[in-house]
Amino acid sequence: MKNSTIIMSGNKGSRKINFGSGPAALPEEVLHQASEAVVDYNHTGLSILEIPHRGKLFLDILEESKALVRELCELDDQFEVLWLHGGGRLQFCMVPANFLGENDVAGYIDSGHWSQEAMNYAAYYGRSEALCSSRDVRYTALPTFPKKIPDDLAYVHITTNNTIYGTQWHRLPDVKVPLVADMSSDIFSIGRDYKNLSLFYAVAQKNVGAAGTTLVVLRKEMLKRVKRDLPPMLDYRAQVAKASVLNTPPVFAIYTCLLMLRWTKKKTLAVLEQESIDKSCLLYDALDQSNIFHPVVAQPEYRSRMNVCFRANNSEIEKGFSDFCSQQNITGLEGHRTVGGFRVSLYNAISREDVQQLVSAMDTFEKNIVL
Ligand code: PMP
Repeated sequence: MKNSTIIMSGNKGSRKINFGSGPAALPEEVLHQASEAVVDYNHTGLSILEIPHRGKLFLDILEESKALVRELCELDDQFEVLWLHGGGRLQFCMVPANFLGENDVAGYIDSGHWSQEAMNYAAYYGRSEALCSSRDVRYTALPTFPKKIPDDLAYVHITTNNTIYGTQWHRLPDVKVPLVADMSSDIFSIGRDYKNLSLFYAVAQKNVGAAGTTLVVLRKEMLKRVKRDLPPMLDYRAQVAKASVLNTPPVFAIYTCLLMLRWTKKKTLAVLEQESIDKSCLLYDALDQSNIFHPVVAQPEYRSRMNVCFRANNSEIEKGFSDFCSQQNITGLEGHRTVGGFRVSLYNAISREDVQQLVSAMDTFEKNIVL
């Protein structure tokens, strides 16, 4: 990079430990590379913000990013990879818009806010039914998946990790109809057989890269199942035909995803999964042993490795602990506004040392608390 300063140099040491749920922490290496590209992309004399989206520079970024997704997920050429706008919610809409005919029924696994919202979007297009739900326990556990599900469903939709409530499906159900997965908050962190899915999507702002784009992967065969005429922006067939450049894509967000995918490949999915197990065990163990903090999800088999939710004995302690963490440069701990308490997001960029610092802060706080 010529004649420019990387934003974070000279600022080292003051970077916060960010346990926010998304947009979430990214590896410093990725932040440096992204900031360099904003000033001068690959010594081209152009910023990444200035390059044309139909030119070779960006088409190379697209191609490499798609190839990396295929490689990481071990997908063959039966799958299409797309980068789309509109976040998770647009996928809540596009999935039924494309695959749920007016007289069809889609089965949704209701394990929390996001799966419920996805189900509500489906109701605009056809019938959506909850195959099972853990609403009665306020989503603090996963529902029991039904032994038998109708084989005439248009598809089954599952949210693999429940970002707000801190539960996670460690194994996905076997179904005979197309399985669609919202993997927004745990993609690339847990061993999954991606090949068994008909469609999966993940917002970028957690494990994939920067907010502004959503990774969508679908089986080519699904394109034959589209149920209605749709405006091209909402139609997977049109998006595939135009290879993610139907309109101007979020170039910088996709480039940040490419940087993150390179980082992910370098780490390997196996290492990331092991780290994710270690980090979450460290935190859950501390919570299980604490006298003032309590994990919200009691059963270990339901606990998310990505979003750990907990409460303290009372709101005074919660406020005190929040203030204490701020002083320690630890941020992003607030639970979702609808549930309160704390939520610690342990996405891939969070290191074991970051979690150790939080656990030490919990310990120090608990030892010194005057009740
Ligand atoms: N699905 C899940 C699992 C999420 O955690 C979120 C948001 N964090 C969404 C969907 C919605 O994403 P967006 O805000 O991009 O619509």
